[in-house]
Amino acid sequence: MADTHDLPDDARFETRAIHAGQGPDPHNGAGMTPVYLTSTYAQDAPAVPRQGYEYSRTTNPTRTALEENLASLEGGAWGLCFASGLASTNALMDRMNPGDHVVAGNDLYGGTYRIFTKVFERFGVEYTFVDTSDPAKVREAMRPNTRYVYVETPSNPLLRLTDIAAMAELAHAGGAQLVVDNTFATPHLQRPLEHGADIVLHSLSKYLGGHSDLIGGALVGRDEATREELAFFQNAVGGCLAPMDAFLVLRGTKTLGVRMDRHCENAAAVAEYLSNHDAVERVIYPGLPDHPQLMIAQRQMAKPGGMLSFELNGGVEAANAFASATRVFTLAESLGGVESLVEVPPSMTHASIPPEVRRAAGLADGLVRLSVGIEHVDDLVADVERALSIAVGSQAQRAGAAS
Ligand SMILES: *Cc1c(COP(=O)(O)O)cnc(C)c1O
Repeated sequence: MADTHDLPDDARFETRAIHAGQGPDPHNGAGMTPVYLTSTYAQDAPAVPRQGYEYSRTTNPTRTALEENLASLEGGAWGLCFASGLASTNALMDRMNPGDHVVAGNDLYGGTYRIFTKVFERFGVEYTFVDTSDPAKVREAMRPNTRYVYVETPSNPLLRLTDIAAMAELAHAGGAQLVVDNTFATPHLQRPLEHGADIVLHSLSKYLGGHSDLIGGALVGRDEATREELAFFQNAVGGCLAPMDAFLVLRGTKTLGVRMDRHCENAAAVAEYLSNHDAVERVIYPGLPDHPQLMIAQRQMAKPGGMLSFELNGGVEAANAFASATRVFTLAESLGGVESLVEVPPSMTHASIPPEVRRAAGLADGLVRLSVGIEHVDDLVADVERALSIAVGSQAQRAGAAS
C-alpha cells in the first residue's frame, strides 16, 4: 500500500502538500497514489489482515493517504475523512449524549445550523448560538455540560473572525473541546491546532478539493482518544469518503498553496474595487482596513482569504440583479473552486436559517457573497464593474417607474 514519503522533518507546507502521506507504491513504484477501488482485502488467516486493511468502510489506502496528508498540513497527529463536510459534523455530534451542550457560532454555515437544530436537538443535544467573535458571550454561554465550543472563522457569509486562542482557553477551562471549521481559511492560511484548537473540520468540497468536482469532509486533531472515538463513529455510522474522491482531493491539496495565494490576491483586488464604488454600502473582507477584527486576522491568518461579502445600496433587489448579471462569476452555491462564484446567501446557502434568526445575526437580506476564483484579475474586476452598472441601472429604472 502507499508508502509514506521519507520527508525531512522540517519540510515546509508546500512540500508536505505534495508528498505527505504519499509515496511511490511499494509494489510497482506507481508515482501517484493509486485509487484503491476495493471493498475488501485478502487476509493471511482468519482475522489476520495483511496490512491492517479489512473492509473499505473502516479503512482504505487511498483514504489513508489523504488522511495523513491533511494531518500533516494542519499540524495534527491524525485525520479522518468523511463523505461530506456535514458527515464530519455528524461524526462529532455522534459523540454527544442527551443533555450534552454545545456553544456554537451564530453565523455558521447554514447546513451546520440545520444539522444541529433539526437533527441532534431532537436527540436531546442542547445548543446555544452566540457571536463567538466576542469571547465574553462565549464565556457567558458555557455550562457544566458543555462539551464543544464550535466556531467558524472566518465565518460564513459575514466573515467575522473569532480569536482561536481565546476560544481554546475558554473551552478548556470549561472541560470542553474546541472545534474550528477551517473551510474558509484552509491550512495554508490558518492552522487552528497551533492556536490551541482540539479538532479542525473541513468541507473538502471547497478549497481543499479546489475544483468544484467532489463532495467530502475531514476532521483533524492531535489527541489519540478523540481519534479512536471519531474513527469508531466513522465506521459505525458509515459516512466515509470514497477512494476516487480521496484521490481527487489529494490532487487538489498538491496545488493548495499556489491556488490560495492567487485567490487572496484576486479577492483583495475585487474588495478594493468594490469599496471604492458608490453603489456599494459596505464590503466585508478581512484584508480591508475597516474590518472590525483586523488584529485577529493579522494574529492567526497568514492572508485574508478568497471570500468576501458586500451589501448594495438597493438591498435585496439590487443584490439579485447583480448576481444575475455577472458573466465570469457563475451564480451558484458553494465556494473554493478555481472558478469565481456569486450568490445571495439569505435566499441560497443560508435559506435554512429562519429570517428573524438571520437578521438578528446581522445577515442582511441583500447581502452578496463572492468566492473569488483564480481567473485573470482584470476579467474579474471588469465583470463586477459591468454587473454593478446593470444592477444600479435596474434600480434607477425601478425608482423612476415608482415616482
Ligand atoms: C460547505 C461547508 C460545510 C459543509 O460541507 P459539505 O461538504 O457541503 O457537506 C461546512 N462548513 C462550511 C464553512 C462550508 O462552507
